[in-house]
Amino acid sequence: GGFESLGLSPNVYLGIKKKGYSYPTPIQRKTMPLILSGLDVVAMARTGSGKTAAFLVPMLEKLKQHVHQGGVRALILSPTRDLALQTLKFSQELGRFTDLRTSLLVGGDSMEGQFEELARNPDIIIATPGRLMHHLSEIEDMSLRTVQYVVFDEADSLFGMGFAEQLHKILTQLSESRQTLLFSATLPSALAEFAKAGLRDPRLVRL
Ligand code: AMP
Repeated sequence: GGFESLGLSPNVYLGIKKKGYSYPTPIQRKTMPLILSGLDVVAMARTGSGKTAAFLVPMLEKLKQHVHQGGVRALILSPTRDLALQTLKFSQELGRFTDLRTSLLVGGDSMEGQFEELARNPDIIIATPGRLMHHLSEIEDMSLRTVQYVVFDEADSLFGMGFAEQLHKILTQLSESRQTLLFSATLPSALAEFAKAGLRDPRLVRL
């Protein structure tokens, strides 16, 4: 099966073709059908495996187009500002045939600029945990309750960098009905515990 067998919307499929991809990578082939069917997934995948598109393509498919009201629908957590920036760029390329709006909430940029972005009703937030928590504490009516799709990207780094407490706090602010995905090169015990707490009957995918 190539990408055409996934039953994607034309606007998402065209974004993939525009990137020049002919076939899904092994991690994409294994995870995309599970994610598209709504399951929680723990995927053991390294950078270079095509893991980013493995969670971005199903996200774009689920969100489809911008919704002006109703709040943020997808949240991607990255360990570093650089990874968050790369993921934003990639998401905008793959999603070029959608009108989805994304806010980047990372340390190092001004809070004010990010307040303005949040006021534009983003469909997607790509964030580092510290800055996301900072916004949640500053903005009275900011809520993650509307988020239906959550990705912990490079989760072993998220934990390795000391974000465990913030990640557990973020979990408590999310809706029970969300879909949750965890991508990680390794699965140390602290991370397995976190997956138990934060994911619902997850499928484990290894290469
Ligand atoms: P990642 O593992 O997400 O960092 O992706 C590594 C590289 O693989 C990136 O440059 C992607 O653009 C590229 N890539 C992702 N999916 C595919 C695919 N299906 N075919 C060819 N290249 C891909």
